[in-house]
Amino acid sequence: MVDPWFAVQELGSKTFAISEYGHWEKVHSFLLIGEIQAALIDTGLGIVPIKRITDQLTELPIIVLTTHVHADHIGGHGDYDTIYVHGDDADWLIHGIKGLSLEQIRKDMARDITIPVPKSFDPDTYKPYQGYPDKLLSDGDTIDLGNRSLGIYHTPGHSPGHISILDHETGYLFTGDLLYSDTPVYAFYPSTSPEDLVNSLEKIASIQKVSKIYGGHNQLGLEPKIFCEILTAIQYLRENNLVRHGTGVHTFQSFSVHF
Ligand SMILES: [Zn+2]
Ligand SMILES: [Zn+2]
Repeated sequence: MVDPWFAVQELGSKTFAISEYGHWEKVHSFLLIGEIQAALIDTGLGIVPIKRITDQLTELPIIVLTTHVHADHIGGHGDYDTIYVHGDDADWLIHGIKGLSLEQIRKDMARDITIPVPKSFDPDTYKPYQGYPDKLLSDGDTIDLGNRSLGIYHTPGHSPGHISILDHETGYLFTGDLLYSDTPVYAFYPSTSPEDLVNSLEKIASIQKVSKIYGGHNQLGLEPKIFCEILTAIQYLRENNLVRHGTGVHTFQSFSVHF
């Protein structure tokens, strides 16, 4: 499939990464297709509607699974009927994030774009999606797509209601902004928590039978051997009392964190 904005990569049978490499954030969303319905993990930046891609990939009903409520992951939410989010991020979805200005969001959305954007995108009027979710997710939930089930892990830290999603079919773990490579993962806003972030990294590193890790930004796909490195990094951070806001960037071999 050729699209001027989205890069679509098949990650395996009925599994697609939909990436926005023309924007500095290099955001990934993922479509997982079962026999009765499909799950769309995040909906991208919203600069270009991601629905024009998912319409071509499946005719089944689509459930949107929100890894977390930041503008770069909920851009296309308004084009879908069924939105799921963890309960602890639901307030941000409904009312927006308190303390994060629209000006800042627009600045981040509009800068460092390397391919042409459609005339319909105007950074001066851009507003992040707001709306009521159809279902609140909890840790341990299972979502059945029809002969394909997804497990929900509550992994707070980057945001209070951040989730990671395990596809039992392929062993792919989708980690949103909890874990990716190339730029630091972070707990930045006052309402986020370095302690939670580290506990969540520890939690996903103990999940069995993960075959590949797919984060929300940058390099597409990480090998599960990164889990060993994460566990060593956590021990180092804890022993040196670095799991606190304001301690800066801590760089390890294949990933870094910014507190
Ligand atoms: Zn985020
Ligand atoms: Zn993000």
